[in-house]
Amino acid sequence: MPHQEEVQAALREATREGVLGESHPVAGFIDIQGVRDSVTALQDAFAQVPDVLHAFAAKACPLLPVLRLLADAGMGCEVASPGETRLALAAGFPPERIVLDSPVKTRAEIREALTLGIALNADNLAELDRIDALRPADSRSVIGLRVNPQVGVGVIAAMSTATPHSKFGVALDDPGARARVREAFLQRPWLTRLHAHVGSQGCPLPLIAEGLAALHGLAEEINEFVGRRQITSLDLGGGLPVNFADDTTAPTFEDYVKVLTDIRPALFDGSYQLVTEFGRSLLAKNGFTAAVVEYVKSAGGRRIALTHAGAQVATRTVFMPDAWPVRLTGHTSDGTLKSTPVVPQDVAGPLCFAGDVVAHERLLPALSEGDLVVLHDTGAYYFSAPWAYNSLPRPGVYGVLHQAGDTVLVPVRTPQSLDDLVEESGGCHADALITP
Ligand SMILES: *Cc1c(COP(=O)(O)O)cnc(C)c1O
Repeated sequence: MPHQEEVQAALREATREGVLGESHPVAGFIDIQGVRDSVTALQDAFAQVPDVLHAFAAKACPLLPVLRLLADAGMGCEVASPGETRLALAAGFPPERIVLDSPVKTRAEIREALTLGIALNADNLAELDRIDALRPADSRSVIGLRVNPQVGVGVIAAMSTATPHSKFGVALDDPGARARVREAFLQRPWLTRLHAHVGSQGCPLPLIAEGLAALHGLAEEINEFVGRRQITSLDLGGGLPVNFADDTTAPTFEDYVKVLTDIRPALFDGSYQLVTEFGRSLLAKNGFTAAVVEYVKSAGGRRIALTHAGAQVATRTVFMPDAWPVRLTGHTSDGTLKSTPVVPQDVAGPLCFAGDVVAHERLLPALSEGDLVVLHDTGAYYFSAPWAYNSLPRPGVYGVLHQAGDTVLVPVRTPQSLDDLVEESGGCHADALITP
């Protein structure tokens, strides 16, 4: 977890090296030790569970060096597309520590997973039929079924996965659904896992716990129905909410285990192997985004700082500012925290649409030209998931190491060059539409 002094030290080093400044006006940073500490906190929280695989949800930070760091720290990886599967393999996760959860798998994707021995969770019963047809007799893949316990909606509707009409998993409370699920297990002795991902940001812990208790109840019901302990593992999904209001980590992984233990102690008694799929809660607070303030203006009596961090690196915040507020701090051009009196001001991004504002009327020390603005807690789903609007290049990402009073930056993702950007935008087909 980077503290204020560490953020300042990273900014100082980044501006000194020029990876943040005139030629690279926005960049992302990841606290390497912070990531390791978060993994340790997760492992410690589950220390009493005999058999658990912690699979990092790759979409939260699909950067290869980060995935490799997580593999090195003892994590598995949860993937949901051919691209994420490729990244996980390239990062060095062994297939048996990869879990494929794509909600819309092609036959080729299913075949690849079954051939390599990657675990997969079918999203629906039709997908089980496909697996019937594609599964090699000697496949080592653990195969599960994703269910939706339909426990309800959290604070952010678009992040709530266990609603009555969610697109994910088999909707358990629909008429006849439980019977069809029991029958699906009875007919397939190789179907040995149940999976649910109850919620993400905005989903309160008790709601998550209720969904996972229902998952455990269903596993017991199915095992009784088929007359043997066919289901041997439960995949609990991810979704621990992150506190974006200040530097505190809350709730913690320990809180998560405690709430689940209170509601369903049997979840942790070793009768099932467990899989977790945390994303945001492992990375969010271990990353930040920094951008140069290019101009400051005033409009309608309001001060507006025009910066280089907008919806291309903070997409959800710009489009849903109430659901995804980010904490900001202002710094001088060498990274020093500004402590002048605060005034309300808009902090806007560089994109050509009026809504490209990361904070409205935020109380901050008056930002001025050449200052830096830091968007905190953006280690998950922010700079690692850029948006290509206005053809802005993907910013560079740097790992930050603080050792013996020194701050070292290591490249994690090279800033995209304009040549790469042209190439990505059809550069090699430049004449395609004028010479038939
Ligand atoms: C996104 C996702 C996760 C991770 O969710 P976080 O809120 O980032 O922890 C876990 N499991 C599945 C299936 C997901 O789609």
